[in-house]
Amino acid sequence: MDAQPRGSLDPWCKDGRECKPEWDAEKTGHQHPLEFMAELLQQWPTGAPTVDLEDEERHLRFIQIVAGYPEIGRGMYPLDWPTHPMSVKALQLSLFLDSLAVPEELIQNPSIKAHSVRSAILALDARKYEYGKKGELDENQLRSLHRECLTLLFKVIRVHVNRESNIDEIDDENREKSASHYEHLFLNNLHSSQKKRREGWWFDSNSEKKFKLDLAKSDEQVNREQHTHQIKLGSIQNWIQEWSTENSKNYPFEENTRHNLLIGASVMLECLFAKLRQHIITEYRPGCILIDGGGRIEFLTKNSDVESEMKRVIEDSFLISENRHPFQDIIVRTLREYGRGRINEPQFPSEEWNTDTNPPKPRKAAFKRFIGEKRAIEFFPPIKYNGVDLYQEMGKNQFGCSLCSREDDSQESISKSVKSVQFKIQDVCFLHALMFRIGEAQQRRDSSIRRKGKSIPEVVGNHSCVFLDLNALGSMFGTPVSKTRKIMEKILHFHHPSKVGVSTEHWQEIESIRENTIEMQKKVRQMLEENNSISQSILDEEDEKFKLYMRETQEQLSIFKARKSFRFNSKWWSSISQIVDTDSKHFGEIGAWVAAGDDLLLVRRGVIGEDDETLQQQLKELDNLLKIEFPNSAIKFSFCAGLTKRRSSNVEGQNWEKIPDMIQRARKKEKQAKNYWKTRADKSDRDDLISEYDSISGSIKRKKGWTLMSEWVPGNGPVYSIPSVREGVPTEEESMIYSSTFRGEEE
Ligand SMILES: [Zn+2]
Repeated sequence: MDAQPRGSLDPWCKDGRECKPEWDAEKTGHQHPLEFMAELLQQWPTGAPTVDLEDEERHLRFIQIVAGYPEIGRGMYPLDWPTHPMSVKALQLSLFLDSLAVPEELIQNPSIKAHSVRSAILALDARKYEYGKKGELDENQLRSLHRECLTLLFKVIRVHVNRESNIDEIDDENREKSASHYEHLFLNNLHSSQKKRREGWWFDSNSEKKFKLDLAKSDEQVNREQHTHQIKLGSIQNWIQEWSTENSKNYPFEENTRHNLLIGASVMLECLFAKLRQHIITEYRPGCILIDGGGRIEFLTKNSDVESEMKRVIEDSFLISENRHPFQDIIVRTLREYGRGRINEPQFPSEEWNTDTNPPKPRKAAFKRFIGEKRAIEFFPPIKYNGVDLYQEMGKNQFGCSLCSREDDSQESISKSVKSVQFKIQDVCFLHALMFRIGEAQQRRDSSIRRKGKSIPEVVGNHSCVFLDLNALGSMFGTPVSKTRKIMEKILHFHHPSKVGVSTEHWQEIESIRENTIEMQKKVRQMLEENNSISQSILDEEDEKFKLYMRETQEQLSIFKARKSFRFNSKWWSSISQIVDTDSKHFGEIGAWVAAGDDLLLVRRGVIGEDDETLQQQLKELDNLLKIEFPNSAIKFSFCAGLTKRRSSNVEGQNWEKIPDMIQRARKKEKQAKNYWKTRADKSDRDDLISEYDSISGSIKRKKGWTLMSEWVPGNGPVYSIPSVREGVPTEEESMIYSSTFRGEEE
């Protein structure tokens, strides 16, 4: 009998099931997880080779890989560019580690349900560094931490590999070390095989027999309320539209300018997150990240001055620094190009430029003038720190920039728009120039990573596009754990004094501990059911023992939440990557143009006007993948999508509508699909689908800002639902696609 759990508790399964750890050698291209980890270490794109680094830096790279935050491009982590093949693989690796359960014999206080191997390693690390308060560890501390993390990793992977090869034994110690080749490979890439290193940092994991992890131990110094911080961007879509001037009627430039701006805007927001992630990971540790995605990042740190540190990162995000901006080279090149032939103009005082070269090289002061603190703040959408705006709102309106200045109906600008002026970066403000150049660069980068597809036919353009958004994400993430009773029970039961092998004298004692534990569990459950939180109760509690139990429970809940967020990210992006990098008709057929916040814009290239349903098919596939990835979630995963094809133009001298107009229609259709989706939920009395959990008040509120489609009846669902459910009337939780007909449809 095998009483050991194989997988960790699945935070997305409402019935408290275990994850199924699977290493997909074919998909990842690596036989063994450690082989891939070794490759990540070897291919680290910035800084010195891993083996050349100081002890702490090597250890951090190892922890980053476990966390799913290795560097995959210059200054970029998988979530900064999630459709990159290396990102997909790195997230798969971490997902695998997150699916592995920590064996009970390694834990001092068994029955901890919330942890996985990934979360346990991250917690050990973050705790030792006191969530960023401790800048560095002394050598002994670091060695023992490193040893603990490696031992846990190696042991669990061995057990997994043995199981896969049908060696169904938990005690791996005396077994043939089937994995040891890969352990060596990994250690060799982390520490090298030099004698001094080998003796100091390598070890035989068999020698660590008595090793026990203290995972239940709660750090009393951490006040989860006070030490949790959140950065959130507001109105992302409006902001992107405003900067890429989607709404402008009298747009002066030739039309492909606008997609560069659109892509650039979205990428620049992702880059801000790249910089924030860099800071959080290196300063506060990877294990402090609780939620990452959808335009926000939530993390735990004991550092005292987080607000001003965050401000500094944001304000300096474009400036050259050791922590590279993902497009640092493009920033430098664009500014040089911008200054060409303009030195001594009012914005270009010669002392800020090095004029020995042609074009002149900007000095630090020039960078500050164009993209320093003030400019950066003006540029970004509203940024909230712990729910409060970090900066006062500022309107963008750069003098002399034809994109920033408000549109006017003057004859001059209308005639300009007809002419379709060629775009020159010197005609706009520097941030618009940068946005354009970064948009171009991103398209180059994106097409360079595509692996699948045949050669590109000669006559292709942007054929169709889809705007999509997941449904009920707020309630899926926000619903308190007390709503899924089976999961709550598993989390609460982490003290289970065993009676096995206890002598009769101690029987009584054990029994009273057991009763006491059950009593505490009951109380905590009641609190969670009543208030959705135990934070306030912890502060008020005087019984030290009970207080400790509550803290431990709170930590379990927090781990659970972080795992939920991480697992969502890796599964969602893996699904998106699969539908984007598909065995397509030609190379780079589908591009992800906007992937900022929760929204996604996919654009298909093809022969314009051709009857082609690729995007619709890919949406169907996405719907399918989500159901496979999240089989037992409390609310089924679904999305709403607006799908449009390029249609003929009603403007004389122009064959096809402009791309931004096609995108705009898709956006509108997505919104309408969402209204229908919510209406269906409303008419089926599924308030849970249209509610949001407010973490501040602890209450559940009905969502605002959508229109009830009163003429709609549940019976005509299939009209707007995904084709896969056309056979019958779909349930309230199915995806919906609102697809435009090919030509001449009414709006
Ligand atoms: Zn501008």
